[in-house]
Amino acid sequence: MTAPDYAIEAIGLEKTYRASGKMAEKRALNAIDLKVRRGSIFGLLGPNGAGKSTFINILAGLVTKTGGRARIWGLDIDEEPRASRAALGVVNQEITMDPFFTPLQALDLQAGYYGVPKAERRSLEILAAVGLDDKKDAYVRQLSGGMKRRLMVAKALVHAPPVLILDEPTAGVDVELRRSLWTYVRELHARGTTIILTTHYLEEAEELCDEIAIINHGNVLAQEPKSALLARLDQRLLKITPRQALQAIPDALAGLDASLLEDGTLLIRFRSTETGIGRLLEKVREGGIGVADLSTEQPSLEDVFVAMTSTAA
Ligand code: ADP
Ligand code: MG
Repeated sequence: MTAPDYAIEAIGLEKTYRASGKMAEKRALNAIDLKVRRGSIFGLLGPNGAGKSTFINILAGLVTKTGGRARIWGLDIDEEPRASRAALGVVNQEITMDPFFTPLQALDLQAGYYGVPKAERRSLEILAAVGLDDKKDAYVRQLSGGMKRRLMVAKALVHAPPVLILDEPTAGVDVELRRSLWTYVRELHARGTTIILTTHYLEEAEELCDEIAIINHGNVLAQEPKSALLARLDQRLLKITPRQALQAIPDALAGLDASLLEDGTLLIRFRSTETGIGRLLEKVREGGIGVADLSTEQPSLEDVFVAMTSTAA
């Protein structure tokens, strides 16, 4: 099969979890469109409960969608459930594994599950790649949390999928392991694997990903190259408490992204790479505003969400 332009495509993908017990009905994915270019390292960012795992679990076949379509490696998950999943390796958020197998046995079982012929199995090579070759015959229950996480990555790779999804792979993992995991992910990417990872750590996505989607409350708020997203992050906020209450934003501030809060605070959003604070304060002075107090803030991921939702409205 010729390689598709997109490793993953979601079209109007929707999930509503049915009410059960005390849980109310929950719309976890609100008809989202998402495209992951073949060859990218794609970061799916969003706070807890945003819908990231739901999205991934639909692709993996663990959750049934309630609407829309999805393709993996060009294959529709409804029309070609087996072939589409064969193109995908998923490392789930929760560590799940049988404690009574050794890493080598676990990989062989997984290879059998995917129907990889014995002659084509690369269990030892994969274990070496994730740094577990010296643990190949240990019981899984004797492995540390970080080692288990690496074994999960190894298991997701046995059928050499062109697309690898890692759902919060570094949650609860120490810094050193995080580094080695990322080194390996970069290697896989260099060898042609498309990588998708979810995280709520912005700096992780910043370091690794070339394309980023932001999802919140089941909606995709942005999907763009990292450089474009970082340009948004370049946004700063200048907060000014005027000495006298302002009735309106003075004309001198026209052309700036200024707003007035109910408590009288003047907010000016600006890009630190384009405008210096000195320049802004000049304009404030030109506008006849006396400054009683001022502060600046760097945006958090949360602020970026707010900025995005407000520009989308
Ligand atoms: P994320 O991975 O971004 O933290 P999830 O996809 O796990 O988000 O969850 C999205 C929303 O769907 C959350 O509000 C969560 O509580 C809800 N949810 C997830 N799984 C289930 C389920 N099995 N039944 C009901 N609601 C669920
Ligand atoms: Mg999750």
